[in-house]
Amino acid sequence: EHVPEISAARYHGSEHSVGDALTIGRRLGADSAYLDAYQGHAALSKQATTLVGWATVMHGGVVLDASGRRFGDETTGYSEYAAILAARPGSEGWVVIDRGIYDKCLSFKDFQQTVDSGAVVWADDTDGLAAATGLPPAAVAEELAAVRKYSRGEASDPFGRNSFEHSLTGPYAAIKIVPALFHTQGGLVVDENARVLRTDGSAITGLFASGGAAMGISGHGAAGYLAGNGLLPALGLAYLAASSLRTTQLL
Ligand SMILES: Cc1cc2nc3c(=O)[nH]c(=O)nc-3n(C[C@H](O)[C@H](O)[C@H](O)COP(=O)(O)OP(=O)(O)OC[C@H]3O[C@@H](n4cnc5c(N)ncnc54)[C@H](O)[C@@H]3O)c2cc1C
Repeated sequence: EHVPEISAARYHGSEHSVGDALTIGRRLGADSAYLDAYQGHAALSKQATTLVGWATVMHGGVVLDASGRRFGDETTGYSEYAAILAARPGSEGWVVIDRGIYDKCLSFKDFQQTVDSGAVVWADDTDGLAAATGLPPAAVAEELAAVRKYSRGEASDPFGRNSFEHSLTGPYAAIKIVPALFHTQGGLVVDENARVLRTDGSAITGLFASGGAAMGISGHGAAGYLAGNGLLPALGLAYLAASSLRTTQLL
C-alpha cells in the first residue's frame, strides 16, 4: 500500500509483520510517519531465496539485467538498488563476480548458503558465462570489457560508479538475483520517551512503540536505510520506554 515501487518484489521478512501496530495505534488516534520507508535488498538468490549479499558488488562485482547489460551504479546501495532492479525487464538480473571476489565472500554465512544451494554458475570466459546464464554473448562480453577499463582507470563508468575494487577476470561466477522487500521502516509517531503521539502532538497515556511498530530513522524511501537502522530503534526506543516508565513509577 505504501511502497508501490517495491510491492511486486519478493517479501523476505517475517510473516507476522502485517501492520497490526499501525491498526492498533490508529484506532487510538495515533499519528504515523515515514510509511514509504523500507529496507530493500537487490541480491536475493532467485533459485535458493538466500541472500547473495552486497559484498559481491563492493568487492568489484557487477549486476547485469536480462539483456546482459549493466543498468546503474551498483554501489548506490543494496537497499535502493532493489527498486532499480525491480524496474528492469523481468525484474531479475545476475550478479557477476570472479574467483577472487568469490573467495572473499565465502566468509559470509549467507553467501556460503547460496553457494551450498548450487545457485552459483561458473564459466572460464565471457562466452561460457553467456551460455551458463542464457544472456546474450555480445552484451556480456562488451559489458565486462568495459568494466575492466573502468577498473583500470582507462574510461569512466557512464553510470558514475567510481569504485571497482579490482579488475574482473575469468573464471567468472554468476548468481541469478531478484529484488526483495525485507521490512518497512514507517510506523507510529513517538517522542523522546517512545510515547506514541496523536496528530495534535499530545501523548497517548500508557502507549509506547519501538522497532517495527514505531516510525524509523531512515527518512523516506529506500535510500536512507543503513545496516542497523532496523535493530537500533527496536533496542533504543524500548530502552527509552522502559527508562521512562521506571522514572514515572519511582516518582
Ligand atoms: C531479512 C531481514 C534482514 C534484516 N537485516 C537487518 C540488519 O542487518 N540490521 C538491522 O538493523 N535490521 C535488520 N532487519 C530489520 C530488523 O529485523 C527489524 O527492524 C527488527 O527485528 C524489528 O524489531 P521488532 O522487535 O520491532 O520486531 P520483530 O523482531 O519483528 O518482532 C515482533 C514480534 O511481534 C510478534 N507480533 C506481531 N504481531 C503481533 C500481534 N498482533 N500480537 C502479538 N505479537 C505480535 C511477531 O511475531 C514478532 O515475534 C532485517 C529484517 C529482515 C526481514
